[in-house]
Amino acid sequence: MVLVGIDGLGWSLVDPMLAAGEMPHLAAILERGIAADLDTVEPVISPAVWSSIATGRSPDSHGIKGFMATRMQLRTPTIFDRLAGDGRRVGLYDYLVTWPPPALPDGFVVPGWMRRGPEIWPVDLWDRTGVGAYWVVYDRALTREEHVAEIRKELKRKPATFTALLEAWKPDVAAMIVYAVDRTGHRFWRDGWPDAGDEGLPTTAPREGSLMREVLRGLDAGLGEISAALQPEDVLLLASDHGFQAGEPRYVWAGRTRDHLRAGGLDETRDGFILVREWGVIVARVRPGPFDERDATLDRLAAFFESARGPDGKRLLDVQVLDGVERPADRRRSLWVRVRQRGFRLVARYVFGATFDEPAHGWVVARFDGDRMKAFWPDADVHIAGRKLRADELAAREDFDGQHDPTAVFVAAGGPIRARAERGRLSVLDVASLVAYLAGEPVPDDLEGTLPRDWIDPAWLEAHPPRSVPASQLPGLVPSEAAPAAAVGDPAMLERLRSLGYVE
Ligand SMILES: [Zn+2]
Repeated sequence: MVLVGIDGLGWSLVDPMLAAGEMPHLAAILERGIAADLDTVEPVISPAVWSSIATGRSPDSHGIKGFMATRMQLRTPTIFDRLAGDGRRVGLYDYLVTWPPPALPDGFVVPGWMRRGPEIWPVDLWDRTGVGAYWVVYDRALTREEHVAEIRKELKRKPATFTALLEAWKPDVAAMIVYAVDRTGHRFWRDGWPDAGDEGLPTTAPREGSLMREVLRGLDAGLGEISAALQPEDVLLLASDHGFQAGEPRYVWAGRTRDHLRAGGLDETRDGFILVREWGVIVARVRPGPFDERDATLDRLAAFFESARGPDGKRLLDVQVLDGVERPADRRRSLWVRVRQRGFRLVARYVFGATFDEPAHGWVVARFDGDRMKAFWPDADVHIAGRKLRADELAAREDFDGQHDPTAVFVAAGGPIRARAERGRLSVLDVASLVAYLAGEPVPDDLEGTLPRDWIDPAWLEAHPPRSVPASQLPGLVPSEAAPAAAVGDPAMLERLRSLGYVE
């Protein structure tokens, strides 16, 4: 049994493409199988929903509700853990919330993009598979062009890599997730539907020549590749976590100042500071250290960001310095500066939820003047640290124009699955029961969903009556041989999530 997860796929994306004959492989799968509107769970964010699909439990009980989660926060085992614990060979490829990777016996795990380290299971997976390593990586903010390149790369490489894994490992149950549709939906919606309103599902196929149309075609080709690798008795399940619809266009300025710091004579290691974020607001934290040295760094950082000027010579960044240590009596700030700092901290805490409480000598916080940037971006000449550059070398404009829709997609075909034309309705919570039953295992009694019996061929169902098993008799989460979870909330992970538009 193979579960192909397609993050962000909705029927409103698929149906007009099917009608236009643009997704022939999916049409062939639907022809021999059954489909449903899939009700999702709250919060409608990928890690929460994919964990509900894997565990058959709501986010309140499995415990995964945010993007910082690792597998260590899962409160209930997944159906994959349970099947592996019962001797089935299980393979997980780029599936979310699978880091650190469980040591599945005779199975494989390539953790999904929220991974906090490079660990895979087994460590020599790629050598033993005889295929080049490929998985989706979001380790820095990407330009629009880089996003397009990464989306195309995923559609090209992931189905081939997955079928190579199936071929080499012959798992009983395998699951993978494709992220290209979700990434395209968030950033390239109006490229597909230029006249889209501020919200609403599409009623037509994305326009010819658009990235979404290319992605849906590429996805279809990948589904063709995967289903060609399966036998008629194999079951193919397709599931998404949510659909997609138009969203109100918004954009965020993301600084690209890191490369210019050196020109300003500033070096993170030597001068004892960290550029914590550049997304929406730029924050540099000066590490605790010798007062005079660190204070000089704080002053130089402030001067660096204040040196960002438009073609008219006026400032582009509003700069605020915050102290992190008690200052000696002869270096006290004026009352006015102390009041201003305190006011800034209060606003940051209550309006943006930002606290400046890590150990620090101080912080420099710099925000772009949005109206001025808009006037100069992308190609006017601006300055920073005395250097002339184009506005888009100082900041990137990150555009978002699509948003999630709560109805997802589910399809099953092959093996004992019935063929039926009309579309049914299921919940993401039902998927784990179906996976257990189709794997020939009893359904754990702690799953919140129900087994959709009417999806199974009646003769098969009679010969293989569904069994239930008390969850207390089942093994728990399969342990990992890799490192324990990193500290929750690390700045690099947060910056990555901001660049995806997932957190502010
Ligand atoms: Zn999304």
